[in-house]
Amino acid sequence: MIYLDSGATSFRKPASVRRAVSDAMTRCANPGRGGYGAAMEAAKVVFRCRERAGNFLGCEPEQVVFTSNCTHGLNVAIRTLVKPGMRVVVSGFEHNAVTRPLHGLGAEIVTAGRKLFDWEDTLQKWEDALKKGTDAAVFTHVSNVFGYILPVEEMAALCRQRGVPFIIDAAQSAGTLPVSLKTLGADFIAMPGHKGLLGPQGTGLLLCGRVPEPLLMGGTGSESIRQQMPDYLPDRGEAGTVNVPGIAGLEAGLRYLEAVGIENIHRREQRQTKHCAEGLQKLGLKVFAGPHQGGTVSFVPKMECEEAAALLARRGIAVRAGLHCAPLAHESAGTLETGTVRVSFGIDACREQTSALLRAVSKLPERES
Ligand code: PLP
Repeated sequence: MIYLDSGATSFRKPASVRRAVSDAMTRCANPGRGGYGAAMEAAKVVFRCRERAGNFLGCEPEQVVFTSNCTHGLNVAIRTLVKPGMRVVVSGFEHNAVTRPLHGLGAEIVTAGRKLFDWEDTLQKWEDALKKGTDAAVFTHVSNVFGYILPVEEMAALCRQRGVPFIIDAAQSAGTLPVSLKTLGADFIAMPGHKGLLGPQGTGLLLCGRVPEPLLMGGTGSESIRQQMPDYLPDRGEAGTVNVPGIAGLEAGLRYLEAVGIENIHRREQRQTKHCAEGLQKLGLKVFAGPHQGGTVSFVPKMECEEAAALLARRGIAVRAGLHCAPLAHESAGTLETGTVRVSFGIDACREQTSALLRAVSKLPERES
C-alpha cells in the first residue's frame, strides 16, 4: 500500500518504536504505584519520555502532560481557559477537536482569517479580531485539510501583546516544524503522539504553560490522602494509569526525529507536496496549493470525493476524502459542499509515491458529483 494519509496518523512507524512498545510491555508495571523493579522501570520509561519531550518541545519535563490523543489535550486546555459565554477567537482552519468543545461550552466563537496561504491577510484579520473583551484564542499551527502553515509565532505575539490567553493545536506540525512552549509563550500546546512524533496511536502530549483544570480525577500515585487532585504538574493532568507502552514508543519516535532532523523531514514532505500539486493541476483538477504549505495537499476530483478515495484504495493508495473533521476549514476554502481528497505525506515521502498517485488519479473516471 502507498500510504498518503499521514495527517490521520503516521503508519509504518520506525522499527525502534515497535521494539520500545514491546520492551515496555515485557518489562514495565504501573509507574509511580510501587517501589519494586517493574514499577520503577515503568516510572523510568515515563520520565525519560517526559524529559526528551520537554527538551524537544521547549519546556520543562513537568510541563509535559501525557494524554491519549490531541483531542484530549485540547479539551483539557479549552476547559481550563474557557467558560460559558466567553469570547474566543479561532482561526478559519480549526478542527472539530477545537470547535466542538467550544460549542459544547457555549462560547462565543469568532472566526478570524479565512484566506488560504496568505500570511498578511491572516495576521491582519487576527489582529482585528483580538480586540478588547477577547477572553481566549485557539489556533491551529497547520491546517489538517490544506497543509496551510499559519504564522503562529506572530499570532502568538499578538495574543501576548493584548494579554489574551491562548492555546495552539500542533496536531499537524509537531515532528515536522519547530514547536516550543517557551518561544511561543502559549498557555497550552496540544499535540498527538501518534502523528508526526511517530508514537503509537493512543498517545498525546499537552504542554502546559499554566496548571490545567483536571478533566479526569482519580489516582495519581501522589497525595493519596487528599480528596482533591494534586495542585502541581504533571500530576494534576494525569489521573489514572498512563499508556506506558505507548509512551515508550513515543520516546523512541522522538529519538528517531532527533537523529533524522525534523527540517529534513519537512523539506522532503514539502518537495512531494509541490510535485503532487503541480501534477494534479496538470490533470485539470481544482488543487489547493500555495506558499507556506506543509506535507498536505487537497484537491477536488471530477467525481464524488469518497468514491474517488475508494477507487484509489482499490489501486493500493491510501488517501482521505470528505470533510476531514474540519468543516470550518472547508467553509473557509469554499469546499463545504464537495469536500476534498486529501493527500498527506509522511517520513517516507518520495517521488515514486507521488507518481503512483498521479497515475491513479489520471485514470479516475469523470462523473457528476
Ligand atoms: N487537530 C488537528 C488539526 C488534527 O488534524 C487532528 C487530527 O487529525 C486533531 C486535532 C485531533 O487529533 P487526535 O486524533 O490525536 O485527537
